Amino acid sequence: MGERVFGIDESRIWSDLMALAEITDPARPYTRRSFTPLFQAGRDWLRRRFAEAGLAVRLDTAANLFGRLEGSEPGLPTIMLGSHSDSVPSGGRFDGPAGVIAALEVVRALQDDGRRLRHPVEVVDCLAEEPSDYGLSCVGSRAMAGLLSAEMLDLRNPAGERLGDAIVRVGGDPARLAEARRSDVAAFLELHIEQGVVLERSKTDIGIVTALVGIIRLEIVFEGEAAHAGTMPMAMRRDAGVAAARLVGFVSQRARALAGAGRGYVVGTTGVIDIAPNAINVVPQRARIVVDTRAEDAALLDAFVAEIEAESRRIAEETATVRERCTVLSRATPASCDPDLRRLLAEGAAACGLSSLALPSGAGHDAAFLSRIAPAAMVFVPCRDGRSHAPEEWAEPAAIAAGAVALLEAVERFDAKSPDRAAA
Ligand SMILES: [Zn+2]
Repeated sequence: MGERVFGIDESRIWSDLMALAEITDPARPYTRRSFTPLFQAGRDWLRRRFAEAGLAVRLDTAANLFGRLEGSEPGLPTIMLGSHSDSVPSGGRFDGPAGVIAALEVVRALQDDGRRLRHPVEVVDCLAEEPSDYGLSCVGSRAMAGLLSAEMLDLRNPAGERLGDAIVRVGGDPARLAEARRSDVAAFLELHIEQGVVLERSKTDIGIVTALVGIIRLEIVFEGEAAHAGTMPMAMRRDAGVAAARLVGFVSQRARALAGAGRGYVVGTTGVIDIAPNAINVVPQRARIVVDTRAEDAALLDAFVAEIEAESRRIAEETATVRERCTVLSRATPASCDPDLRRLLAEGAAACGLSSLALPSGAGHDAAFLSRIAPAAMVFVPCRDGRSHAPEEWAEPAAIAAGAVALLEAVERFDAKSPDRAAA
């Protein structure tokens, strides 16, 4: 293997990532969706790598995969490191696996140097972080936080299989799901590619995540009246398409204004616009849009959504349409990263000559759920052009290694400083 820098072997990380990437649907690289035979093959490969690193391998009842290294002081809580190995269809090689392999490398670095931490360390591959066919993301990390409900286990894929049965199929035991809930985690650290352009454009080595945004998705339907595009005078129209278009504009303009207000990161996107009858010479009768709003600040996010609801009512009035529906489809609250862990990451990076930047995560990650049960933090590494969820996704070997260095430094600092909470 290659030369180690600050304990981390860049070529070992890279060869592992490329080997795991080989386990893909050959017709659609890079595809390794959760619950599929390919996903299981990837996990078999991970199990072997975990075992070769001297880790005790196990699945929990939610089918999260762990490799555990005991600490020197019995009874101390666990330092957990990791991410996910599943992908979206035709995804990349780094979203998820970079965090699992970097976590494994941290443990290997400790083993190679004969250093034993006081705390046990676990490397985790969380089950089904990406949206699966069962319509749910972050399945495994939800379970660790005690937030995977019976209703969620009853979700079905298009073939009619229950999520709970799929978890059994990959080695879990949802009947004993409570056992997957963790109360022994001292710290959770996740390395992930940024999936954005901030680090690349600012030529910064690593990002230290301040918070994972909250997300509220809204469905709004305007009902107007279909009419002939040539004969219906403008003043008499009830155009649902115009109503929807005005609201699309409002969401974007308002998000821009709020983003400049100094209350953290906020974005608003209308990604779904359905118009009926969607014909060139017909005034639209019905329009449905789905709005995705995200912000670091929970109160700001709620206020933004309330403004969109109020504006949709006003627009319906002004366009003589009926706002038939304005429904919250999903709601995820923002998750703050732990200030002490953030400081340890920044100190560790600086000690190794790495530049770092504090930035929010606009995407959801397993760390959002683990932050409900433990202090959690994330390291972002730059990726080319911010591209992700695509085969072109790319992160430089040195960039991932730099992130792993920051992770290792933070783990060692945490281990040295953390009080013996569980030992008392
Ligand atoms: Zn991911």
